[in-house]
Amino acid sequence: MYLHGTSRINEQGHLEIGGIDAVDLVKQFGSPLYVMDEAYIRNQCRLYVESFRASGLPFQVAYASKAFSTMAMCRLVQEEGLSLDVVSAGELYTALKAGFPPEKIHFHGNNKTPDEIELALDADIGSFVIDNFTEITLLDGIAQQKGKKVNVLIRVTPGIEAHTHEYIQTGQADSKFGFDLASGQAAEAVRIVLDKPALNLIGFHCHIGSQIFDVAGFAAAIQRMGQFMKEIKEQFQYEARVFNVGGGFGIRYTSEDQPLPIPAYVESITQAIKTTFDQFSLAYPEIWVEPGRSIVGEAGTTLYTVGTIKHIPGVRKYIAVDGGMTDNPRPALYQARYEAVLANKAAQAAREVVSVAGKCCESGDMLIWDIALPEVEVGDILAVFCTGAYNYSMASNYNRIGRPAVVFVKDGKADLVVERESLEDLIRLDRIPARMLYSVAP
Ligand code: PLP
Repeated sequence: MYLHGTSRINEQGHLEIGGIDAVDLVKQFGSPLYVMDEAYIRNQCRLYVESFRASGLPFQVAYASKAFSTMAMCRLVQEEGLSLDVVSAGELYTALKAGFPPEKIHFHGNNKTPDEIELALDADIGSFVIDNFTEITLLDGIAQQKGKKVNVLIRVTPGIEAHTHEYIQTGQADSKFGFDLASGQAAEAVRIVLDKPALNLIGFHCHIGSQIFDVAGFAAAIQRMGQFMKEIKEQFQYEARVFNVGGGFGIRYTSEDQPLPIPAYVESITQAIKTTFDQFSLAYPEIWVEPGRSIVGEAGTTLYTVGTIKHIPGVRKYIAVDGGMTDNPRPALYQARYEAVLANKAAQAAREVVSVAGKCCESGDMLIWDIALPEVEVGDILAVFCTGAYNYSMASNYNRIGRPAVVFVKDGKADLVVERESLEDLIRLDRIPARMLYSVAP
């Protein structure tokens, strides 16, 4: 059994996270429950910062808040000295309300609305990552009206796509994000942005994929981007101060995943940048990265209670838990795979192979197919590992199921950072039109 972060099996034979017995966490906070290992998150933040510091190059590590955005998380990120990426008014508002320094917030997205742009400009955030031609005009127009000059990066699609073990080179990059390099759209964007009075171009951004283990994809993207920046320098006498290489660093969901340690990712990126920028006689840029999953993914464990068991002789045994695709849509969306244990029987050997079903009205609502566990009984606590990224942030209210609570655990203490959604919360925004109020006899 692979235990992430501070998790261990305690003297009672129970799973313990952050020094607290998982069974006690469920007693105190109920289930399903997202448990975040705070020490692990802080350690990941520090690994990024220390690894970049060791490179001797200027840098900024921006946590991609899409992975897991709450006010407490923004606080933690601030305490660790990282910057923050947001992609919506909601993520921005969460950060601002948590007191996150606006100058360290960067705004992403392929369709920032005028309202979102206004909110960000009024807050004086650090930069916008411009995604398309429409946005150039829109952002410049609103900034001019407000008499502001805005720092911007241009998001480039370098024609490299990477996921897990492989990367591919694509000609004309077919993506909803960014300006394509091969067709010349990226260079055209530079020309237009440099002409806009309210936009201050500070550099370029690219993001090549997610759950990447093979650093060759980053090296290939950096080479292409270096070539591009050299051409831009020749054409426009413009030299980028910032180069943002995106996020996507892989984590260990199951034994099949073999991510590199963070220092190794950082080392290969900084080395590739030094080599490429030397090759093209460009000054070293300030390097920005925006990791999300690798900061919070392995920190998260979701605790569920087993509610029903269905054994189909000769076929399979289903165990159904009190959550599912509403708190973790990734298995249904991407066939994502997870490992789990019975938290109250963590020291016991596996006795049977079962499949873990969620409680939603969808046959596809399966969290794990075929997992070996000790004998499963109603009332057992199932702990699914590695749910810290893109679980809470992607959770829904399908079937009007309330979203679980989130706790941060550290040194034997648990703090509630997001309350469980109540039934009252679920109808809080509902309205019955007046014409229907009296249409049904009481
Ligand atoms: N930056 C951008 C532009 C992204 O689209 C994403 C993820 O989709 C990230 C950063 C974070 O990626 P990850 O969580 O895989 O590190």
